[in-house]
Amino acid sequence: MSSITTPFFFELPTKIEYGPGCLKTLPAHLAKLGGKKPIIITDKGIVGAGLLTKVTDLLDAAGVPYIVYDGTEPNPKDTNVRDGAAMAREFGADCLIALGGGSSIDCAKSVGVLMAHNADDIKKYEGKTAATEPLPLFITIPTTSGTGSELTFSSVITDTKSKYKMTVKSPYTAAAIAICDPELTLSVPASVTASTGVDALTHAIEAYTATCSEPISDAVALHAVRLISSSLRDAFNNGSDLEARSKMLMGSMLAGIAFSHSDVASVHCVAESLGGLYDLPHGTCNAIFLPYVMEYSSAYCLERYADIAKAMGLKFETVQEGARAAVEEVKRLCKDVKLPAFKELGVDKADFEKIAEMSAVNISTESNPRPMSKEDYMNVLNAAYDEVFRQ
Ligand code: NAD
Repeated sequence: MSSITTPFFFELPTKIEYGPGCLKTLPAHLAKLGGKKPIIITDKGIVGAGLLTKVTDLLDAAGVPYIVYDGTEPNPKDTNVRDGAAMAREFGADCLIALGGGSSIDCAKSVGVLMAHNADDIKKYEGKTAATEPLPLFITIPTTSGTGSELTFSSVITDTKSKYKMTVKSPYTAAAIAICDPELTLSVPASVTASTGVDALTHAIEAYTATCSEPISDAVALHAVRLISSSLRDAFNNGSDLEARSKMLMGSMLAGIAFSHSDVASVHCVAESLGGLYDLPHGTCNAIFLPYVMEYSSAYCLERYADIAKAMGLKFETVQEGARAAVEEVKRLCKDVKLPAFKELGVDKADFEKIAEMSAVNISTESNPRPMSKEDYMNVLNAAYDEVFRQ
C-alpha cells in the first residue's frame, strides 16, 4: 500500500468542465479543439431519456454536422465497436463524442482505437500495450454516476465469442475533455442509480486499499467515499435532488481518477467474470461481492478500512471495529438502495468454478490487499450466494 517514500507518476490528461448546465459549453469546446464532424456514440436508453436531443440541438444551433451511432449495448460488445467504427469511417468523422454511461463511453473509446489504427477488430488491442496511436479528438459526456470512464484510460468490451470482458487500456484513450453536467444524471432510473453508485463506491474502496495505491489517489479516493456514502441514498430516493446527484457525479469522477492511477482489485475481477458470462449490470455484480471481498481482505488492511469507515462518518474505537463498521455500512447501503441478492440473478452454481478461474487470472487480482487464489474466489462466491443480509 502507498508510502510517502515510494516514487510514483501521476498524469491526468483530461480537462474537466463541471457543473449543472455545463453541457452548453460543448460547441465552444469543439470549436476550440478543432472538431468539425463528430460521431456521437450513445445508446437507445439515452435517446429515450431525451438526452441525445440536448446535444444535437446544441450542434444544430452551432451548424456542426454530425452522425449518431446509438447501437451501444450494456456491457458493450466487440460488434458494437466494429459497427460504430464503420459508421465513423463512412461519414468521415474527425472526432468522437461519447454520451452516456460507461457502456457508451467505453464503446466510443474503442471505436476511437479502431479509427486511430485503421482497424476493425478491437480484440487485437486488448491489454495495456497494444493501442499505440493517438485517438481522434475525444469528448466524454457522462450521464451516470458510476464508472468514471469519462476520466479513465481504459475501456471494457465484451468478446462475444468467449463472453469474456476484455480491457483495452492506453493513455491514448483518455478524453481531451470531459463535460460533467449533473443535470444529465437526473433521469437515471432508481435501480441504475443504485448499481452505478455502488460501482463508484467500489472503485474508491478498491483504489484506496490496492497494493499499488499512491498518495494522490488515496486523497481522491477518500473524498469519493465521503461524497458517495453521504448522497447515494438521497439520489436513489429522490432522483431530482440536484445536490445529491451532483455529489454522486463528483464522487464517481474522483473514484475514476483514483482507480485509474491506483487499481481496482478482486471485487472487480469476480464482478467482470460474472457480468461477462451472464451479461449482468456491472454495478450490481460489484455490489454482490464488495462486502464479502472486504471481509476476506480485512485483516490485511485494517487501518485502511478504518479510514474508509471514518470517511463514511462512522464512529468506532479501534481499527478492528472501524474495519468491521465499514463492511456493515456497505451491507446496509446495498440493502437500502434495494440491490438484488446474488440468488435472484439466475446464476447457475455450476459456473462458479469457471468464474473463480477467470477471476484468479485477472491482472487486478494482484492488486487485492490479501492474495486471492481460485479457491478463495470460490469461497467468496459461495458466501455471497448464501447471504442473508439482503433478505
Ligand atoms: P450503462 O452505460 O450500461 O447504462 C445503464 C443503463 O442506464 C442504460 O440502459 C442506459 O441507457 C441508461 N442510462 C444511462 N444514463 C441515463 C440517464 N441519464 N437517464 C436515463 N437512462 C440512462 O451503465 P454504467 O454502469 O454507466 O456502465 C457500465 C459499463 O461500464 C460496463 O460495461 C462496465 O464494465 C464499464 N466500466 C468501465 C470502466 C472504465 O474505466 N472504462 C469502469 C467501470 C465500469
